[in-house]
Amino acid sequence: MNTNDPSFLKLNPETFIQNSPSPFPDERSLEKLAREMFGALQSFGGGNLPTSGLPTNGLSSPTSSQETLPYLEDLKLTDTGFSYSNFQSFPNINIPQSGGGNLTSARRDFPILTETVNGKPLVWLDNAATTQKPISVIERLSHFYLHENSNIHRAAHTLAARSTDAYEKARSLVQGFIGAGSAEEIVFVRGTTEGINLLANIISDKHIQSGDEILITHLEHHANIVPWQMVCAKKGAKLKVAPVDDSGQIILSEYERLLNSKTKIVSITQVSNALGTVVPVEEMTRSAHKVGALVIVDGAQSVSHMPVNVQEIDCDFFVFSGHKLFAPTGIGVVYGKKSILDTLPPWQGGGNMIKDVQFDHTTFQEAPFRFEAGTGNIADAVGLGAAIEYLNRFGMKQISAFEHDLLEYGTKELLKIPGLRLIGTAKDKAGVLSFVVDGFKTEEIGKRLAEEGIAVRAGHHCAQPILRRFGLESTVRPSLAFYNSCEDIDALIRVLYQLGSRNKLGI
Ligand code: PMP
Repeated sequence: MNTNDPSFLKLNPETFIQNSPSPFPDERSLEKLAREMFGALQSFGGGNLPTSGLPTNGLSSPTSSQETLPYLEDLKLTDTGFSYSNFQSFPNINIPQSGGGNLTSARRDFPILTETVNGKPLVWLDNAATTQKPISVIERLSHFYLHENSNIHRAAHTLAARSTDAYEKARSLVQGFIGAGSAEEIVFVRGTTEGINLLANIISDKHIQSGDEILITHLEHHANIVPWQMVCAKKGAKLKVAPVDDSGQIILSEYERLLNSKTKIVSITQVSNALGTVVPVEEMTRSAHKVGALVIVDGAQSVSHMPVNVQEIDCDFFVFSGHKLFAPTGIGVVYGKKSILDTLPPWQGGGNMIKDVQFDHTTFQEAPFRFEAGTGNIADAVGLGAAIEYLNRFGMKQISAFEHDLLEYGTKELLKIPGLRLIGTAKDKAGVLSFVVDGFKTEEIGKRLAEEGIAVRAGHHCAQPILRRFGLESTVRPSLAFYNSCEDIDALIRVLYQLGSRNKLGI
């Protein structure tokens, strides 16, 4: 099948409405739509797609007979309704990060990359903002809503067991992907921003007093600055900032100098979203632990580009967003060492996070549930699990090596453009090529590229302090993922040359 043909995934809503006797879809039309959808999904990508676990004829469930549902088997109904005491019995999945899938054909797994924009093929170079989703993630979401949808943990019926199993399997997949010691160390949240706010609240309540210090770096995204400013304002603590050199790398001697017995929290990004700098988080964690500080690593920009092992970093917490990891929006992760999570108070109160509620007293669940109040984003957590399974087919080592070559190629080509200044030239970089061009506003360049179907970010990237460190308010930021190619970079370079010549001619 020709996967460049954008019609391959059309669900044909017109046919759907026409076949319906009223403007409101009846049940048969819905079934037809579902069948069409699965048919289209299954035919896409041919042998490339994982078909195991997918229904063979649209609406019949693959799990309708002889299901193995660990949650249903483990469920212990108690006086208060349910118990998580058997959580440990969910299998922890240890995933090798060395899958041998062929990266050169990976692009075909992303249907949106066959879109045209302004009559030109879409070139998606805005991956630091969000990544595109592979078909296996899209179809996993459909499968969830067609066959598994239920609230989790709370009922003894089959759909609750299916959805709980799918959700807890996703937790185990995350655990394996980032090398956590157990699935109980994985808390599902909305994304990196919510994760850092959760941590800022639960850690500062217990660990921050007036006069204490919180240390971040000049590279941080606003999501790793503002929550700490709020904590400092509330608690009378001080925010300290480790500086960077002219390449955009942390000056480690200055960072070390800022650490002292008053430093209670160190919160650092692993990869800068504005410059692409890869920060030596392992070394920085070691130094922070020497003064007794807790270490949080913002992995929003690292998890999609390199293998991450939280136990090797030895950070106390690690946060990331699913949508930057080829998974849906609205789902993210906080990893925390279990021994620390269990000592921290909950943030939000409500259902799901309690063991027992009386009007004068409530007891809370252990981690991770005590941090997951209310109904979470179940389907998108399952989608995140599917994204991780997809990535494991290639392995993050292979992805990292491939992107490294792409980044080198892009850097070399960009530097040939007259008047172009690359912002962020650290030796160790990932995923990002920020630049400005003499005589052009960044929005102008972004707009011109968009006209040619090329999506990049032009702006402050929610990291104003680091851009100002380089005397700028804004850069153009193409950002890479493993589905990009040298041709994508060539398309970008071509437009930049055209811009340059237009300028010279005064057009
Ligand atoms: N930290 C970094 C380094 C980021 O790049 C981003 C997103 N641009 C965030 C935090 C915030 O992530 P989200 O918007 O998904 O919460």
